[in-house]
Amino acid sequence: MDEQLATELALLKELGFTHLDVHSRGAESVSDEDQRALLEQMAGVARACEKCRLAKTRTNVVYGVGNPNADLMFIGEAPGRDEDLKGEPFVGRAGQLLTDIIKAMKLTRDDVYIANVIKCRPPENRNPEADELDECRPFIRRQIEIIKPKVIVTLGKFALQSLMQRGYAITGARGQWLEYNGVKVMPTYHPAYLLRNPAAKKDVWADMKKVMAELSSASAETSAP
Ligand code: SF4
Repeated sequence: MDEQLATELALLKELGFTHLDVHSRGAESVSDEDQRALLEQMAGVARACEKCRLAKTRTNVVYGVGNPNADLMFIGEAPGRDEDLKGEPFVGRAGQLLTDIIKAMKLTRDDVYIANVIKCRPPENRNPEADELDECRPFIRRQIEIIKPKVIVTLGKFALQSLMQRGYAITGARGQWLEYNGVKVMPTYHPAYLLRNPAAKKDVWADMKKVMAELSSASAETSAP
């Protein structure tokens, strides 16, 4: 069996899952409350997780926040200092910029779901190691399975590479639609990069316009008789 799959199955077994849910979006009737409960159950497993060395240095596990039934999911890299202290993703300066981007899309943080591919802060905000990304990946995969978004926006190189398990360069992949298990994925820059390079904000806004168009066409399809 593939090592990644074995890790993921072991995690799901810890959660008490006895079968894999492979239904497509819309084929099941899971309520918001059920989705919230499933996410909370997974968050509990994450809070107790010691699968990688980051467990030793974290203050809080930063699992994810937002609408359990969101059409749009933002996925970043890893918690920073502010996030580690508060236990919530994207609450520092980069988080404020993400909030501004969400507002510009005429949405709120409560409409979307926000998470990272790594749930515990790497010391001194260093880049995540490959084995840490591998150990933590089952959490984000399960979050996506539960939420079933219509669109995922990955923020920065590590979120893109870890989710897709391919060595994409962010500059080449940015703004191009990809697909993850049937869900459209729009790679864009991380807000922390925009703080250092404000000129790139226009590229991110161009990407978000594509996301808004896709969400609006997906919701028109859903509401068609
Ligand atoms: S980063 Fe992920 S895999 Fe590592 S200890 Fe935290 S929750 Fe577990």
